[in-house]
Amino acid sequence: MPSITRLSADALAQKLRSGEVTSVEATQCHLDRIADVDGKINAFLQVSADDALATARDIDARRAAGETLHPLAGVPIAVKDVVVTKDLETTAGSKILEGWIPPYDATIVERIKVAGLPILGKTNMDEFAMGSSTEHSAYGNTHNPWDLDRIPGGSGGGSAAAVAAFEAPLAIGTDTGGSIRQPGAVTGTVGVKPTYGSVSRYGLIAMASSLDQAGPVTRTVLDSALLHELIGGHDPRDSTSIPDALPSLVDAARQGATMDLTGLRVGVVTELHGDGYQAGVLARFDESLDLLRAMGAQITEVSCPHFPYALDAYYLIMPAEASSNLAKFDGMRYGLRVEPTSGPVTAETVMAATRGIGFGDEVKRRIILGTYALSAGYYDAYYGSAQKVRTLIQRDFADAFAQVDVLVSPTAPTTAFKLNEKLDDPLAMYLNDVATIPANLAGTPGISVPNGLVDGLPSGFQILAPAKADDRLYRVGAALEAALEKQWGHPLIADVPELV
Ligand code: GLN
Repeated sequence: MPSITRLSADALAQKLRSGEVTSVEATQCHLDRIADVDGKINAFLQVSADDALATARDIDARRAAGETLHPLAGVPIAVKDVVVTKDLETTAGSKILEGWIPPYDATIVERIKVAGLPILGKTNMDEFAMGSSTEHSAYGNTHNPWDLDRIPGGSGGGSAAAVAAFEAPLAIGTDTGGSIRQPGAVTGTVGVKPTYGSVSRYGLIAMASSLDQAGPVTRTVLDSALLHELIGGHDPRDSTSIPDALPSLVDAARQGATMDLTGLRVGVVTELHGDGYQAGVLARFDESLDLLRAMGAQITEVSCPHFPYALDAYYLIMPAEASSNLAKFDGMRYGLRVEPTSGPVTAETVMAATRGIGFGDEVKRRIILGTYALSAGYYDAYYGSAQKVRTLIQRDFADAFAQVDVLVSPTAPTTAFKLNEKLDDPLAMYLNDVATIPANLAGTPGISVPNGLVDGLPSGFQILAPAKADDRLYRVGAALEAALEKQWGHPLIADVPELV
């Protein structure tokens, strides 16, 4: 039997059901792995060993008593630190929330606990999910397990690196502009941004409420489907939650794995490949298209003429919403409180001193940008125009999905870059999300599936579907994964360097 930490969540769940492995053993193996490698990776901000083992013991006892459990019961999971966890410190990667212990669980955490998945800890991230490299964390950067001198993507680099380094079989991420899919691409993991409103946002520390969406980070497409079904579905505590039931995602993944895509119409987005994309990434992308074609898919090119404006619209809408959402960190309600060193102590001076010390540069940059975009004299010119572009992008998607079933592109324009390479160049950093942002602006779902290596570093294949058709991501993603693994003879992630 391969080491327990190398198993997919589905394979581990089967061994838990058959009694070959207990949840306590599985959880302890992952805690040991974290102890062995996280000094090099820094994927975790908090490790909750005692609570994880307590959950594992409870699940083992209930299984022994013959109780019917959730299919993933007993399988450990890591949670991005932007998701609130009762009695477990939650910082969103920010100094302003250092020491904040939430009094409640996010809905997705509540569902994870009810299903009995031991929570291993909280994962590192760019402060308030602003970034593409996890270098904007107030708690040090995370390293990419494929090359420790490189970034693991962001903002959810901790979740992606934890899964890629076999520290956790499953993790939760959040994606406002690409923070699940781009880290997935550069770490060789699977990441899914579900349809907006299909996974509850209750208990996510908001960055941009109209764009934020939580989703799965895993090593296989089927594992993402299993986790997505667990966390998704209607939540009355989220006013934007979709009332409809989720489509059957696990069934779609299993169907995809049979490698039959006869009649499926796949559109390659003209605007999302070519200039600005690394040659090796484009080569892997073209090879993946050949595999889809060989499984019966019809590949055409589809133009989405407004996609080139998506990044500009995003960097007005997102900071505008963030500037409002982050106003609540005032030194009085949560976490850090700093009093001014001189002068009167008033609400305003405490707020200024706390925010001055508590927020990092990238967060301040976006608050200033967002406040400016929303100011009376500029609102129509900036925020208003960006919202019009957002509508045009939604129409591009509607027109495209009238012609094809799914759209595809490389997930990220390049493989993982070196630490510090783009830290002083915000615009270069923002460009990592050119291919992922349109889906956030439209509220539509997307997946990144690892599709090969370029000079030893992973690249990702992005599949986009219409809203509420997340099942298509799993069907096509599982088919591509199966075809690639048949070619390679093993999963891509098996090639990740030994870290000990
Ligand atoms: N990298 C993008 C940003 O910096 C997206 C972040 C995210 O999805 N949370 O805003």
